[in-house]
Amino acid sequence: QALQVAIDGPASAGKSTVAKLVAKRFGYIYVDTGAMYRAVTYWAMQHDVDLTDETAVIAAMKTLKISFKPGEPDQLVFANQEDITSAIRQPDVTNNVSTIAALPQVRTILTDQQREMATAGGIVMDGRDIGTTVLPNAEVKIFLVASAAERAKRRYAENIKKGIDTPLDQLQAEIELRDHKDSTRKVSPLTQAADATLVDTTPMSIDEVVAAIAEIITK
Ligand code: C5P
Repeated sequence: QALQVAIDGPASAGKSTVAKLVAKRFGYIYVDTGAMYRAVTYWAMQHDVDLTDETAVIAAMKTLKISFKPGEPDQLVFANQEDITSAIRQPDVTNNVSTIAALPQVRTILTDQQREMATAGGIVMDGRDIGTTVLPNAEVKIFLVASAAERAKRRYAENIKKGIDTPLDQLQAEIELRDHKDSTRKVSPLTQAADATLVDTTPMSIDEVVAAIAEIITK
């Protein structure tokens, strides 16, 4: 059977790493919805759009087609033909994405695209509002969390591999600020769906998290 699997949670809880491995194990498609909000942020910044001006952001989105291709370690993300995989992970995009994610019309447009991708099932989608808003009927819902200190450590290690050297305490502060903005916005704030299973990955390895989710899926 081709299920819909929703994986939500705060920044750097390991959602994309785990979601990708779960998708691989079940032969499902993986969709990183955070990459879509990042792509819009990148595009708006490239076009010198005021990120708080919703009308201008929506106008810029009209010339943007986001697409994905399989890739390692990150799934490849394209803005039209341009490969923006690494550009959307740069600190300037990361620190502005919550502003874009708070715009209701941006969310409506991206939510429609995400639902479209999920119609046939056989999908693992990660984000902030998948279980609550995008796919409220998903058969499997996971809410992935980890302590802020642990998440900062993981992000730090990832960054170093990519040649980004932001101090650990600054990373933790940025992660906490982004979580605060994502949890307090008016539309589809980051929150655990009532029927989601909470998985705290703080003491767990990636393999253990994947195994725990696989067990929930096959149950
Ligand atoms: O998952 P990632 O950290 O790449 O997401 C980047 C940002 O995109 C989040 O901080 C949040 O502001 C936004 N986002 C969202 N809803 C989603 C996925 C991401 O608002 N479903």
